Amino acid sequence: PWSGRVQYDGWLQQAQTRIRESQAGALYGTMLSQRERLPAYAHRSHILATLLSNRVTVVLGATGCGKTTQIPQLLLDEMILERNEDVRIVCTQPRRISAVSVAERVADERAERIGGFVGYQIRFEKEVTESTRLLYCTIGVLLQQLQSDANLSAYTHVFIDEVHEREMSSDFLMLCLRDILRQRPQLNVVLMSATLDPTIFETYFSEFNPATLQIPGKTNYPIDEHFLEDVLAASNHHIEVLRDSRGNILTEKEDPETPRLTKQEIQARLQCKPHVAQSIFNLESSPFATTNAELVASTVAFIHRTRPPGAMLVFLPGYKEITDVKALLEKDQSMWVLPLYSLLPVPDQKLVFQSPPPNRTKVILSTNLAETSITIDDIVYVIDSGKCRVTEYLTDMHIQALVTALISKANCQQRRGRAGRCQPGEVYRLYTRYNQEAMKDMIEPEMRRTPVEELCLMVKVHKLGLIRPTLTRALDPPELSTVDNAVTLLEGIGALDKDENMTHLGEKLASLPLHPRLGRLILYGHLMGCLDWACIVAAFISYKSPFFAPLGREYEANMAKASLAGLCMSDHITLLKTYATWRSLMGDRRMQNKFCTEHFISQTTMKFAHSLVGDIKAMCTKLGLRDGGVRNDAVFRAVMGIGLWPSVAAKNRKSVSAYLGDSLSRVEIHPGSVNFKIPKEMRSEAMTAWYSYYQIMRTAKTFVYDSTLLEPAMTLLLAPDVKRVCERDGRGVFYEIGNTEQSVVIPSHAEVDVLELRKGIAE
Ligand code: ADP
Ligand code: MG
Repeated sequence: PWSGRVQYDGWLQQAQTRIRESQAGALYGTMLSQRERLPAYAHRSHILATLLSNRVTVVLGATGCGKTTQIPQLLLDEMILERNEDVRIVCTQPRRISAVSVAERVADERAERIGGFVGYQIRFEKEVTESTRLLYCTIGVLLQQLQSDANLSAYTHVFIDEVHEREMSSDFLMLCLRDILRQRPQLNVVLMSATLDPTIFETYFSEFNPATLQIPGKTNYPIDEHFLEDVLAASNHHIEVLRDSRGNILTEKEDPETPRLTKQEIQARLQCKPHVAQSIFNLESSPFATTNAELVASTVAFIHRTRPPGAMLVFLPGYKEITDVKALLEKDQSMWVLPLYSLLPVPDQKLVFQSPPPNRTKVILSTNLAETSITIDDIVYVIDSGKCRVTEYLTDMHIQALVTALISKANCQQRRGRAGRCQPGEVYRLYTRYNQEAMKDMIEPEMRRTPVEELCLMVKVHKLGLIRPTLTRALDPPELSTVDNAVTLLEGIGALDKDENMTHLGEKLASLPLHPRLGRLILYGHLMGCLDWACIVAAFISYKSPFFAPLGREYEANMAKASLAGLCMSDHITLLKTYATWRSLMGDRRMQNKFCTEHFISQTTMKFAHSLVGDIKAMCTKLGLRDGGVRNDAVFRAVMGIGLWPSVAAKNRKSVSAYLGDSLSRVEIHPGSVNFKIPKEMRSEAMTAWYSYYQIMRTAKTFVYDSTLLEPAMTLLLAPDVKRVCERDGRGVFYEIGNTEQSVVIPSHAEVDVLELRKGIAE
């Protein structure tokens, strides 16, 4: 570990010389003139003074003001060039891609090589040398280092960037850092955020008297703001009274004598169709009941008709709303309507950066993808529905739900900032000022809306003590029942023993960069000789499915997937087949692309998942796990069944059910699954089919996503409570599972008494 002193005599002088040489070059000067325009650079002396006189600093500033690229860099130069002191700075990034691109940008700005003074490290990839003094890395990398260097003695300054995103790993890192700050007086921590209210961070680190730096100065052009009440009044100064569903007044009436606008008046002002006026009128009673596609569309049309031409960016909660609004807008040929969401193939996503065809206005309908991840420069108008899709954790059912929720004030601010990047802009908010006041400052932290198995394992890996008391020290601790579920699961899969000690298995699971359930799948794959297949499936599950169904072409897409599946009755085996074909076409780009296009497969997802498969296999090799060359569907079904147990769903002619928490609940197979329809050849009445699955999520219904048909006997061996019912109509012996009224049939000719067999195993 780094001692805080210069590595060897003369290092500092050499470093100073090298930095000054780069600074003397023409390239550095060109970059410097760009940097000088950034607020973070302009305020450097104040920023440095604050950073250097406080152990904990919270830095706030709008996106693009130069926090990430400038502040750590300024500190580096100040220490080495001005103070003649060595430093070690690490700056975490929430995404792999930003760690790399920011490091490269900073090296460019300094006219230096990447991997010199400035480097990056993400899992499996790094540009770091002895001379690296500013390291951009993912949070995962820093947590990994923390395991072997509990005091982070390798660093003098730790920057956590984008703390407002409140990812589970960044909250966990803060928990660790607070302990380290107590133990190691030399450590300095800087939290950087784009958000408005620093109070929670200040309070969390209050024992170190944190300083707060607000970087002033706008990077954008001015933005005019309109709220729902203004939109409805449509340039008229009378503000409408809006009430929420409980009848509370949402906005102040500017002129109490003005009666509420009638439907006819709304229609006249917005020049919209009667039913649109009606739906706007109805908003008064319940403005947030649904996302009103017609209100969104009529606002877009209103801007298009009455405002100077300019590209529009519409924020909608999800895919469905995008589809609805697109259908309403597409009739108008003067608009170029482009959807934007994460599952959209990349070439389609890239369209949003292009200029529209002549005489057409670009209208982008986006999820919150365009909020931070993608920046489109020519946006003049932002239309914000005020909602987004987020996950929630339903503790009693042990599943996640995808719900539409109000965004936070921080999101509002961020969405607004997407307008006016290159010229003055406007934001039309389809919620009232009152609604905005009621919004949370920030989004619900990830720790409070997801299962926490990985977090619990991290507590153990970092030897922080007992899970429950440790987690109560987090910035926003997870619900106790969520922690209970996680501990139960970890005990159930054998990662923790009854006293919460990490088992040998648990250590293996924790060292895999995967959810422990997928880690378990991989270990079974290893045991049963098909590790490679398990790695491939685990990689796709932990990333995403490469299959996509474009708007209006779902049937075609499903047919294409079914053609790959054949009769395997498994989305996972279909993935294996698809991946094998895709790999065999590696040498022929054209054929590979054709294969992807014809089967509605995302080439980008395939490429990323492919690299992930490689990473996971490399990790397994390091752990001493080997592939045994078994390539057998039946064996693989068994691996899926045991590996993912107890995630099984039972499907009979009437319904599908799954164990959620302690009981069996009604679920649905997702229409995109190859198991949504049972092929004719496989149909047989009264039979229950059992499927193994990984992901289940409640949206409109509770959907089981990818699934694999299990061999009946496998289900009987695994299920906790099996009763032999009787022999019926010559088809075989029926076994009932629990009180589920779901049965498994073992054909008579294969009859072995499964109950006796189970006893044998148990003993
Ligand atoms: P912040 O962290 O405050 O959001 P950054 O430090 O990431 O801001 O970026 C500051 C500015 O530097 C950006 O507005 C952009 O103009 C410029 N910049 C950052 N990264 C790059 C890059 N990879 N290529 C070109 N310009 C960049
Ligand atoms: Mg940044």
